[in-house]
Amino acid sequence: MLTIDEAQRIVLESVSALPAEPMPLLQALGCVLAEPVAAQIPLPPFDNSAMDGYAVIAADTRGASPATPRVLKVIEDLPAGTAPAQRVQPGNAARIMTGAPVPAGANAVVMVEDTRPGADGTVEIMREAEGGDNIRPAGEDIARGQVALSAGQMLGSGELGLAAALGCSHVVAVRRPRAAIVTTGSELIEPGQELVPGAIYNSNQVTLASRVLSAGAEVARCLHAADEPAAVEEALRQCAQADIILTTGGVSVGDYDFVKVALERLGEIKFWKVLMKPGKPVAFGDVLGRPLFGLPGNPVSALVTFELLVVPALRKMAGRKDCLPVTVQARLLADLPHKPPRREYVQAFTEHTAAGYTVLPSRKRGSAMLTSTVGANSLVVIPEESKGLRAGEMADVILLAGVGAAV
Ligand code: AMP
Ligand code: MG
Repeated sequence: MLTIDEAQRIVLESVSALPAEPMPLLQALGCVLAEPVAAQIPLPPFDNSAMDGYAVIAADTRGASPATPRVLKVIEDLPAGTAPAQRVQPGNAARIMTGAPVPAGANAVVMVEDTRPGADGTVEIMREAEGGDNIRPAGEDIARGQVALSAGQMLGSGELGLAAALGCSHVVAVRRPRAAIVTTGSELIEPGQELVPGAIYNSNQVTLASRVLSAGAEVARCLHAADEPAAVEEALRQCAQADIILTTGGVSVGDYDFVKVALERLGEIKFWKVLMKPGKPVAFGDVLGRPLFGLPGNPVSALVTFELLVVPALRKMAGRKDCLPVTVQARLLADLPHKPPRREYVQAFTEHTAAGYTVLPSRKRGSAMLTSTVGANSLVVIPEESKGLRAGEMADVILLAGVGAAV
């Protein structure tokens, strides 16, 4: 049976980055920049004041102190957003606010705390200024023509803010993958409906859709198919607009497991079954030219296979280079029994403490027990051949990205 590492390699080889498109800044949060952003203007665009105070000629303040203030004539008031109308001549000062352009002639700003009002429209300067004091020169942050953001960079708040400061309303970024989710199972009914004998509520739709969003992708549509070959095929055909298709259930060896059958009929299976726990029956292939992940129906298995196989695919499609899950070392707070030969992933809460990461595994480990995922922000990895991990040992832990994450 395929190891999880081999399965991840096949997945990453099978998908490629989606095309880039111009998008409004906020929409690009978490996306990968596809075209560099050059500074069309310097930042700041003009010499401006770093303080509320008075723009002066530094030489006019020589010898100034509280006991020997220098008296200057105030010629103008410059709140932020105004353009100075007058040149500051020797003996003059302009009242200036933070962010306002420094008027021609002035070469320093004395902060208001070092001044006091004088008689007849004058100000008393009580401290010597040096040329450049409290002035933010044009281009000190970035010069015109410099590369502000490079292609391949992930767009976070700082990157988007810089693009905005440079006057860009849009950036060209790799578009978000759009995922279609097809849950299968004749026993499933939607939350909000009355439970009938033999039925259970569909929980995979919301868990997977929310993980898709947390992974920075979009939910194109959610469909449900009963356990009938025609229904499953019809649902898959309706996913042709999506970039990636996720199904749950129907990939085991039961008589009603039609997802694998549909995958064989409409496309190609690249692998089925991975040496992992939970999640062994996961399938991967192509349907109608789209990558399809046939995730197991058990809710915890669906989440674990999503994290280990689908998230890397979504990242690669989003143009990212760091596609595989982030693993850290954490000190185990409880024993974890294990039997070879499958690598096991246990729902857990990881915390960063003064002594490093600690990890508390969920007490329940069944692949159908959703309560094990409540409060979980990570997965403890138990190696294939391990006979079990002991409390106090260091273990590999995969941190889940997005909502409720440990980092
Ligand atoms: P399957 O892989 O279709 O045999 O499903 C395995 C188990 O997961 C069964 O007990 C199903 O009832 C359950 N299951 C399948 N799909 C879902 C779903 N969407 N929500 C909750 N449980 C599910
Ligand atoms: Mg089923």
